[in-house]
Amino acid sequence: MTTLIIDDDPFTLKLLTRQLTTLGVEDIHCFEGAEAALSFLPGIMAATTLVLCDLQMPGIDGVEMLRHLGTIGYPGSLVLISGEDERILQTAGLLASGQALNLLGTLHKPIATERLREMLLRHHAQRPIIQARASRKAYTAAELRQALAEGQITCHFQPKVCLASGRLVAVESLVRWQHPQDGLVYPDQFIPLAEEAGLITALTEVVLAISLRQAQAWQKQGLTLSVAVNVSMDSLVTLDFPDRIARALEETGIPPSQLILEVTETRLMRDRLAALDILARLRLKRIGLSIDDFGTGHSSFAQLRDVPFTELKIDRGFVHHAATETARRTIFEASLHAAQELGLKTVAEGAEDQADWDFLRASGCAMVQGFFVSRPMPGPEMPDWAAAWAQRYSTLVAGG
Ligand code: C2E
Ligand code: MG
Ligand code: MG
Repeated sequence: MTTLIIDDDPFTLKLLTRQLTTLGVEDIHCFEGAEAALSFLPGIMAATTLVLCDLQMPGIDGVEMLRHLGTIGYPGSLVLISGEDERILQTAGLLASGQALNLLGTLHKPIATERLREMLLRHHAQRPIIQARASRKAYTAAELRQALAEGQITCHFQPKVCLASGRLVAVESLVRWQHPQDGLVYPDQFIPLAEEAGLITALTEVVLAISLRQAQAWQKQGLTLSVAVNVSMDSLVTLDFPDRIARALEETGIPPSQLILEVTETRLMRDRLAALDILARLRLKRIGLSIDDFGTGHSSFAQLRDVPFTELKIDRGFVHHAATETARRTIFEASLHAAQELGLKTVAEGAEDQADWDFLRASGCAMVQGFFVSRPMPGPEMPDWAAAWAQRYSTLVAGG
């Protein structure tokens, strides 16, 4: 393991070297500027390399350094150091992940040895993960068309539970491609393709059919659940979409109010009037409409003003870590407040840990969906999961 410390302040260099040595780190190289470090790096490009870099430096600053590291495809780990406020470090953190750099964390000056130890532990723990990261494959429209025709498209379902009662009220249907060679392929690898290739409407109809059939099967087992299906607003161009959905509902005997369409807007809408026409008619048919990923991209207040939504899902970017990060919490609370004032059901997405859970329980948000409650699962597993969850919820509530 080779460690580089980059900081324009000689005192910080000396201090950090001493702290790292105490923690058993050996091969340490110090640089008073990013330029020298960058010419040294090509010789030590390995996953075991660790770079500790200051943000505020004359010459190449820390943000530029991130860009350079991204360009050369630096494979090691990175820790950012700064005397700047938390918000700058957070933004720098986003830039680092945007460059696909393995950022372990950020350190405030003066640096506590305990925090430094934490970073070293992460560095050692993360190495196998990086090596195991599977390569992503690009699929063609022909392959996707074949998948649709041959029934390789399936859905997993993730619970949406009521925070106050623990009740399992709904599930979100998440599409998966059961690929004959590549295994389970996730939607971020084929939804954009489906949209570009004009296959998204066909895909939505398959997902809808699978989801309604699954809801019917749960119903027979005594489990009444609302089912949420994702539709991108850009795909709402065929004006008979509501009629086709109504027909699918009739065929399965699921009441329209038990279906929720989660609407996102990924690109610029081609035909805004058509989308509004379709959404209004879906509401007239009593189908639920949810604004998904609220607060990101185009999914924002203007949409909330114009579309008769019944539910608002706060994006996980404002949920996970909301307890400790002021910006996230503030946006979470503003979104929640707007939804409540408009009489919408509220769902927090992406709760991952106990801190998120505790925060949400106290927040007044109605429902939660996230890995902390459950990962998405195959439909037949849902009844057993529901029983186990009821048990877990009572211990969670008793504990807090
Ligand atoms: P989404 O609608 O916001 O769905 C939630 C995504 O977040 C799912 O990813 C889910 O597995 C993931 N998730 C849930 N809880 C957590 C958590 O606690 N932490 C983290 N990090 N992630 C969590 P998935 O299944 O990969 O789906 C990604 C996106 O693909 C969905 O985002 C949705 O926009 C899109 N998608 C999925 N199925 C369909 C579909 O049938 N049609 C369309 N048009 N889009 C779909
Ligand atoms: Mg969704
Ligand atoms: Mg979402």
